[in-house]
Amino acid sequence: MKRKLTCILPLLLALSCSTQQRKSVESTEESTVARPNIILFLVDDMGWQDTSVPFHSETTPFNRFYRTPNMERLAKEGIRFTQAYSAAVCSPTRTSILTGKNPARHGVTNWTLRKDQDSSGKTDRLKSPDWNLNGIQPDTPTLPRLLKEQGYRTILAGKAHFGAKGTPGENPENLGFDVNIAGHAAGAPGSYQGKNNYRKDPDGEPRIWDVPGLSTYHGKDVHLTEALTLEAIKEMELSVADDSPFYLYLTHYAVHTPIQPHEPYCTQYLERGANPVEAKYASMIEGMDQSLGMILDELEALGVAENTLILFTSDNGGLTVVARGKTPQGTGANTHNLPLREGKGSAYEGGTRVPLIVSWGKSNPDHPNQRLLPIQEGGTSHVPVICEDYFTTLCHVAGVKDLSERAPDIDGVDIRRAMVGDETFTRAGPLLFHYPHVWGPKGRGYQPHSAIRMGDWKAIYYYQIREWELYNLAEDLGEQTNLATTERNRLHQLASKMASTLSTMGAKYPRDRESGREERMIRP
Ligand code: CA
Repeated sequence: MKRKLTCILPLLLALSCSTQQRKSVESTEESTVARPNIILFLVDDMGWQDTSVPFHSETTPFNRFYRTPNMERLAKEGIRFTQAYSAAVCSPTRTSILTGKNPARHGVTNWTLRKDQDSSGKTDRLKSPDWNLNGIQPDTPTLPRLLKEQGYRTILAGKAHFGAKGTPGENPENLGFDVNIAGHAAGAPGSYQGKNNYRKDPDGEPRIWDVPGLSTYHGKDVHLTEALTLEAIKEMELSVADDSPFYLYLTHYAVHTPIQPHEPYCTQYLERGANPVEAKYASMIEGMDQSLGMILDELEALGVAENTLILFTSDNGGLTVVARGKTPQGTGANTHNLPLREGKGSAYEGGTRVPLIVSWGKSNPDHPNQRLLPIQEGGTSHVPVICEDYFTTLCHVAGVKDLSERAPDIDGVDIRRAMVGDETFTRAGPLLFHYPHVWGPKGRGYQPHSAIRMGDWKAIYYYQIREWELYNLAEDLGEQTNLATTERNRLHQLASKMASTLSTMGAKYPRDRESGREERMIRP
């Protein structure tokens, strides 16, 4: 018999629930129900358009190109967010989900790998701030640790990329995970192929990109995405057998480079005339989607689908300037996220806007936990949200008490009202982006920057060239018309909020390479 835990999900959603639903919420407050399982399904480098699920106001050519039937299935059960954000690159987002803090506050503002080494490029004039280049370490309260204290079994399967090699943070087990499957310091796999032991050179010297563990699959024709899914499923089964609620952080290495085929999905894209690189990329997307389908099927087989909350998203915008081929439309760099501008590593929407779907594994409005959190079936939310919000939201779902005391200075907000389809919900505080680094590629958006979004307006400041840009995203999603000179008052308002928010968070700024002096923004 299933062990019952006192579920103390707080009163919520009064504004969005019908009277009948409110009565249900009240009546279940005192009852005992099993805590919901939680799955955070995180895809690496997946763009806003890399799916057959439309996140734009219309179905795009990209939506018609990619095949993601299981994302469609999930979106039908739950709600998709059209304006969800991550940071522009991997580690900042992953650390924000882990800690509930914005990158400007946790200080992991760029991707991490080697101890005490800065992964950033340089501009003509500026170098990186004194950032947290070894990544997150065990002295910080983390989501899995807080969930563990609530009785959850905490499982990581896939890419960790939290702490640099040779630091305690490289091992997810030091950060609150009971189980670590294949997670370590590196943010990409040497290979996706089991035949290669998930290494670039299976017969050569060990490399930092070698995927740890998974030896069962070495020498076999099992794609990394599938191996991680099979191992995650084993852990789900163990948790259910043990009557433990589980938190599964299924954090695929896909669809990050190296872009390699995920068979048998590649051929159909080639047959449809896709560029060979793009056919491989699309096969990685479809393989990832197949993993989602396996997880959804398993939840049903285990009888826990109705009591499992799933959050599906990506850790940054889609890659577009390196390693990619021509799109189905025959266009190249900076067009893989259209209608969004640019991509991963950039200040523009292509760099940070990502897919987000939130759903119960199987919708059942009569299930006690679904009565508490009646996620809108087949819904669409236009409420802007950002990755640190998942920390706070999931802590509330799990019934974590006194969160602000146990995890001080968190920036993420509880977005459950948006999850039940309340479009009047507005996030307290602006959406802030702080990337005071050079990621690598050249181009307008790929420079050290901070950006802020308030309502429909977005301001960007570039530290190297000391210039501001201002866009109205409701009218100009592609960020083509810079209104910084014509909407002076609006720009002042956003710049002022950006400066005060960065200051409150203790943000670090780029430094002059010669003098070492901090380069703060010049107010408009
Ligand atoms: Ca990434």
